[in-house]
Amino acid sequence: MKISPLSSLSPLELTCALVAFKSVTPRDEGCLSFLEDILQGVGFATVMHPSKTPDGPKNLTAVYGEGARTLVFLGHTDVVPEGREPWDGFTPQERGGILFGRGVADMKGGIASFVVAAARFIAQHPTFPGKLVVLLTGDEEVGSPEGIQAILPWAAQNYGPFTACLVGEPSSCETLGDHIALGHRGSLNLFVTAQGVQGHVANPERARNPIPILMQYLQRITTHVWESDPGDFAASNLEVTSIDVDNPVSNIIPSQAHACANIRFHIQHNSESIANTLQALAAETSECLSVETVPNGEAFLCQDEELIGITEEAVRETLHITPRRGTEGGTTDGRFVASYCPVMELGMISRTIHHKGESIPSEDCERLAQVYETFLQKFFLRI
Ligand SMILES: [Zn+2]
Repeated sequence: MKISPLSSLSPLELTCALVAFKSVTPRDEGCLSFLEDILQGVGFATVMHPSKTPDGPKNLTAVYGEGARTLVFLGHTDVVPEGREPWDGFTPQERGGILFGRGVADMKGGIASFVVAAARFIAQHPTFPGKLVVLLTGDEEVGSPEGIQAILPWAAQNYGPFTACLVGEPSSCETLGDHIALGHRGSLNLFVTAQGVQGHVANPERARNPIPILMQYLQRITTHVWESDPGDFAASNLEVTSIDVDNPVSNIIPSQAHACANIRFHIQHNSESIANTLQALAAETSECLSVETVPNGEAFLCQDEELIGITEEAVRETLHITPRRGTEGGTTDGRFVASYCPVMELGMISRTIHHKGESIPSEDCERLAQVYETFLQKFFLRI
């Protein structure tokens, strides 16, 4: 696809160009190199971080400017597959003011809008006081250890300390800018095994059925009150995702029963305290239970009122709506950056992400670029 000269980059055009790369995790297909060229053209110094394993994901970091005040823009170029139903998600299509394509919302549209906003801002204020850092990963959707978390320590050492981070994930709900994310709940997976004793159903006294034990535990953890008052932060929620016994014989009491679950937990907990509670509930239920917990990220929350205020003002001044502050929805790579600096999320409408026919209003590419540019002006120039 032909792209206009950098001085007149169109965020819509750039979004379409990015969608055309079949960058299904962890494949990159040249998407990050394409962005690297553009960022270099804008004036950024870039570093491509190749994968340590063959076929692993790449990461791209870029920096422009000097000064203590450092803004990180965080994004991912990978997308989920098109899905089983036939749909050409990698040929962007515009119909009736709507742009269709895999990743238009999650989150190539956000990256394109930000890159254009940065190009416009730098063209107008080439010596602005501060540093603009762009961190892009080719693996957010699967979230392997080789994604953004692999390069964050390096980036913090070479570009940091970071003042703030803006994540371009699709935070909007119904219209662009109606919702900004101040953080997200933590996430932890659990794998439960109830150990029984196999036997004949007619002689239960000589067996131990693991299924009621497992059900009792699942009942306990799904009805447990994790916090009495969640306040403004999204409440903890545990979902059982699988129950497996794998016993095709109707007159045998099975020897084992398994379950999997995931809990999204409130900011007042951490993965260790959640794991401890889950283990304690298991011990109270039965000594035949074993529970394995696998943390998948801590909860985080932006409490930097100045940063929240700048984000809200950028939306209000550009789009003439006041965004709602929230913490619901799935977590993002922002959780890794949150241990370095305050993190905010502002991006496209999320309604169709991962759906067949993922789409956004075409005009939102330009509108989001303008919101990001206003954000940059407020953040660096305080105007
Ligand atoms: Zn995403």
